[in-house]
Amino acid sequence: MASHRGNQLERRLLTLLAVTTLVPLGALAYLSYPNSSETLIFGSVSRYSLVFTSAGGLALLASCIVATRMLRHKFKLISDLEEVVHMLARGDYSRRIDLASSGEFTSLGRAFNEMTEQLEHSLKSSQSVADIDRLILSSADLETVLRKVLLSARSIRGEIMLILRPDIDSNALTTYRMDKHRLVEGSVGLLEVSDDSLRDIDGYEQVAARICGENVWVCLAIETAGVISGALVATGESAPKTVEVQQLGELSDRLSVAITNIQRSDSLYQKAHFDDLTGLINRHAFEDRLREQISRSWRGEKGAVMFIDLDDFKKVNDTEGHKAGDRLLIEISKRLATALREVDTIARLGGDEFAVIVPGCDDEKSVSDLCERIIQSLTKPIIVDRIEHSVGASIGVALFPDDGQVVEELVMKADSAMYRAKETGRARFAFFDDSLNEANRYRVLVESRLRGALKRNELELHFQPKLDLETRAVESAEALMRWTDDELGVVEPDTFVPIAEETNLIHEFTAVQVDQTANLLAAADAAGIKLEHVAINASAKQLMTEGFSLSLLSMLDQRALPHRHIEIEVTESVFARDTQLVVRELEILQSAGIRIALDDFGTGYSSLNMLRELPLDVVKIDRSFITELETSDQARILVQHLISIAATLGKQVVAEGVETEVQLQHLIDADCHYAQGFLISKAKPLDEFIKLLADWQSDESSHHLKLVT
Ligand code: C2E
Ligand code: CA
Ligand code: CA
Repeated sequence: MASHRGNQLERRLLTLLAVTTLVPLGALAYLSYPNSSETLIFGSVSRYSLVFTSAGGLALLASCIVATRMLRHKFKLISDLEEVVHMLARGDYSRRIDLASSGEFTSLGRAFNEMTEQLEHSLKSSQSVADIDRLILSSADLETVLRKVLLSARSIRGEIMLILRPDIDSNALTTYRMDKHRLVEGSVGLLEVSDDSLRDIDGYEQVAARICGENVWVCLAIETAGVISGALVATGESAPKTVEVQQLGELSDRLSVAITNIQRSDSLYQKAHFDDLTGLINRHAFEDRLREQISRSWRGEKGAVMFIDLDDFKKVNDTEGHKAGDRLLIEISKRLATALREVDTIARLGGDEFAVIVPGCDDEKSVSDLCERIIQSLTKPIIVDRIEHSVGASIGVALFPDDGQVVEELVMKADSAMYRAKETGRARFAFFDDSLNEANRYRVLVESRLRGALKRNELELHFQPKLDLETRAVESAEALMRWTDDELGVVEPDTFVPIAEETNLIHEFTAVQVDQTANLLAAADAAGIKLEHVAINASAKQLMTEGFSLSLLSMLDQRALPHRHIEIEVTESVFARDTQLVVRELEILQSAGIRIALDDFGTGYSSLNMLRELPLDVVKIDRSFITELETSDQARILVQHLISIAATLGKQVVAEGVETEVQLQHLIDADCHYAQGFLISKAKPLDEFIKLLADWQSDESSHHLKLVT
């Protein structure tokens, strides 16, 4: 349509030109024969008409050619412009005005070309930026982003290169360029770049100049977390155009965002999947890998899961401290890596527990050999801080798919095999065996259910009141853990507490205890109930962990629990092993205002000397003595003496397991301070306990007063 209109115009102009040329030519021919005008007019028309016509025709033809040429230049430019504009409107920026044929309009054509180029650059640049943004959002890896950035920079003249410093603590640099569609990586280690020079962009520019010669056009900083960690460099013969510099600026900005994002998600991934200390994968990632391996076993590939538990690690941790323990664990993880093959997966499940997935092995012999190798390598002495340690390990093995095809089942079986190995002595290994005794199986099941219960916050504290025999008031309680599992039903603390101790899950009890005790005190406060002391049971394992008291204090402070309300019950057995450590921990608690009670006094190692030497405020006489009060004079005398000695030493005495009124009367007669037992009440859930106390505390002729007559 446009060219049709152009042709019409061209035709009209040609006609006009022909007329304007013909008239002066006729005049010229006439002037050439001034004296023959007669002849010309009357007789010799035929002689001269030929000359006239031919000259006129030729002149006309020549001028037509010249005119057409001239016009074609102009109309070519106009129609080119028109076409380019149409292409631009369609988003096609490829066409340029041919400057050679635009004659006197060259400058217009050039300006137009520059405009097109600028448009093309900014469009491409915003497209690439949008593409890179999409990659950032889709969490693409570094290589994909770098490739995209370098491909996007292709529209820029010259060589584009990226220099990155992958580790901010090292001055090793990596370069990236595109070779056709291949991302080419290089290193700049040999150039001996100083750390200082890489703090600002000049340092990178110098590196770029050293790599590419002197002609560095642009060197733009890539910043991650406020630090320059690389540069986008363009090198070339001629100086870059403004649009090109702009585009490079946008690309380097995007790259900064992308790298920061990748580093952040890398560190999140690292935290979620790896163990900080050893760098091995953690329990979560281990379970994922095992699931993957099991799915291969459906295609015929067998394998083994090993549970490795260090034999004497706790001793090192307790005697040399956690730092030495940590170094030991790092060394052990290295030894495991050397003892195993590349294809095997090693994980640290927590504490001193490691696990290994051995894929592609279907005979017990090769697994046995591997176990032997691991035990040998872990049994060799390890020197940490110039002290030689010998730890050793016990290994339990479950095979898949034979022993199970579900992660939880295999883990449970490998774990139970490990316990069997431990039972048979140090530095042994055992395969899971269906004939493993029921009790052991139940123990393993309890452990796995308990782990889940702790995660789901299913453990509950119940509170058993203590009656003050002097004032007849009930203002104190002991907190006792209760657990009802969906699968196992009610599990007694005497069953799950020892398992929690063995498996280190007991450490997670502290938070539950503090949390629910805080809830109780808050509820009592809201109901206007007086609550003097709440006693929390601390197991030997909890107490024998260095730092237990400080972590307990910080948990109490977090919940704004006043220390004077808290009492910690410990059994005599905790003093039997590492007395010094336990005394130290208890003294910290005691000096922070927490009361310490000795539980189950009279059983085990009891000696009256303990009452004198240890940091104790309260003594709880074991239920077995209280039961005998009614039947044995000897027991009665013993309890009387015990109470009076404790009183002399400034300790308060609690009688446990009081079930009858006769027992209670004996205790009152012996000036015992507190009584606790089913006679007063069983342990109650928080709400019921509050109601009970509200009832007792509100009524002067209360239930317990009638009870204590
Ligand atoms: P314990 O610390 O000696 O707790 C007293 C136990 O005696 C409780 O058993 C309680 O219910 C029971 N009891 C109280 N009065 C009577 C009575 O008159 N007659 C009889 N027959 N029993 C009475 P429970 O709750 O089954 O706890 C057993 C043990 O489990 C506790 O003994 C304690 O050693 C441990 N335990 C309970 N909760 C926790 C806890 O949160 N942490 C730790 N580490 N251990 C706990
Ligand atoms: Ca207790
Ligand atoms: Ca007790």
